[in-house]
Amino acid sequence: MAVSDHVDLATFIEGVKRRNPGQPEFAQAVQEVAEDIFDFIRDKEQYHKYQILRRIAEPDRVISFRVCWEDDKGNIRVQRGWRVQNNNAIGPYKGGIRFHPSVTESVLKFLAFEQTFKNALTGLPMGGGKGGANFNPKGKSDNEVMRFCQSFMNELYRHIGADVDVPAGDIGVGAREIGYMFGQYKRLTNEFTGVLTGKGLEYGGSLIRTEATGYGATYFMQNMLATQKDEIKGKKAVISGSGNVATHAAEKVTQLGGKVLTLSDSEGFIYDPDGIDQTKINWVKDLKNKRRGRISEYVKEFTGAEFHVGKTPWSVPCELALPCATQNELTGDDARTLVGNGCIAVSEGANMPTTLEGVHVFKDAQILFAPGKAANAGGVSVSGLEMSQNSARISWKEEELQRLLVDIMAGIHASCVEYGGRPGSKVTDYVRGANIAGFKKVADAMLAFGVV
Ligand code: NDP
Repeated sequence: MAVSDHVDLATFIEGVKRRNPGQPEFAQAVQEVAEDIFDFIRDKEQYHKYQILRRIAEPDRVISFRVCWEDDKGNIRVQRGWRVQNNNAIGPYKGGIRFHPSVTESVLKFLAFEQTFKNALTGLPMGGGKGGANFNPKGKSDNEVMRFCQSFMNELYRHIGADVDVPAGDIGVGAREIGYMFGQYKRLTNEFTGVLTGKGLEYGGSLIRTEATGYGATYFMQNMLATQKDEIKGKKAVISGSGNVATHAAEKVTQLGGKVLTLSDSEGFIYDPDGIDQTKINWVKDLKNKRRGRISEYVKEFTGAEFHVGKTPWSVPCELALPCATQNELTGDDARTLVGNGCIAVSEGANMPTTLEGVHVFKDAQILFAPGKAANAGGVSVSGLEMSQNSARISWKEEELQRLLVDIMAGIHASCVEYGGRPGSKVTDYVRGANIAGFKKVADAMLAFGVV
């Protein structure tokens, strides 16, 4: 087939939308990648001939299942669970599990698609997957969460395995949920293997896994600033979210001399003009992980801070922004506000937190913008290292893992720079760089396999 016979980008996206009705998040994620890949493969016939992008945008399989559990009042509750196994060209499927009422097949397909590129960027042998359920752990007792996790695993266990598919945590799935799911997997299979990552240190977990995503997103920010001979020290940072990623991003920004002004949750954001220092971050971690409280409680504890109900933090003037809550939490208008207020760099701790319009605003303004698939890959990288430690039945020391995380983030940054150059642009296009570098690795493996 001649190159000129290939479908154009608009026709390709139209086809994705037609084949995946009612799945806007998935179509959005594919479009963001396709915009760069179509340009990259224009003169590379083999990727067209073997329909590589079309195949990556069609998950290997989507497993959907019923999850029944009994609440504390004896009511039978029914939820829906999924595992999306997107692509295992370069390693076992790997990606988190999300428990949140907003979880749908579309959200998990977008996340599994993104994960495929992200995992390739880490340089570790991991394919892309994602799973979850429309279950809300908020307000549930420990026993209710345990019964749900066990019921979820009663079906999931037959689809995963240390060499098949290795899930981890994500929104609503932390150490507690991983523990319950690992315990049930072990009971069902009578096997102790590294089938989940993010495990407790007592039973095969890795040091620094908890910190890795937020720290990694901050290292990526540091790497981007270094290309402009700049640094985090002395800069004001606005962060959204108050969970695992947000609190550890805040911690690392603070350690590197930045001043964190905001955190948020789905009810609003707190603004602390004095800066959210380590003592305050520890208080937030305790609030979220132990007391399972709301970020609005911060202003009762720390005077001088304000709570803005129902709002996101992007109107607060800053040089650095790290969206670390959820998808599509930063719109085109928010991006314009940030740029107008002097923001020079954005590093996405969350997955696809910036809308497509917002991404274009940052690109057009030529500010440093790191997409989640590059910036938040630190978490899955240390998960990959957890898999290696489990396979070898060893535990690496913290200093060694910290060094590996710094090296991996620097390697991802270098890959983005290699593929993200644009004539006439003074900054790297990190979206393009991440998309192309991730695609190339997966695509070349797929070419080696032929049509399977
Ligand atoms: P957590 O559950 O620990 O925290 C999520 C935070 O985001 C909470 O503050 C939560 O507030 C907020 N949030 C969730 N949904 C919404 C919403 N619809 N609107 C506004 N705020 C919301 O999750 P993580 O910190 O682990 O994950 C955050 C993001 O980072 C996600 O996009 C995740 O996919 C991504 N990520 C996480 C990795 C990890 O290692 N944990 C790895 C790579 C990416 P509330 O409590 O009110 O819901």
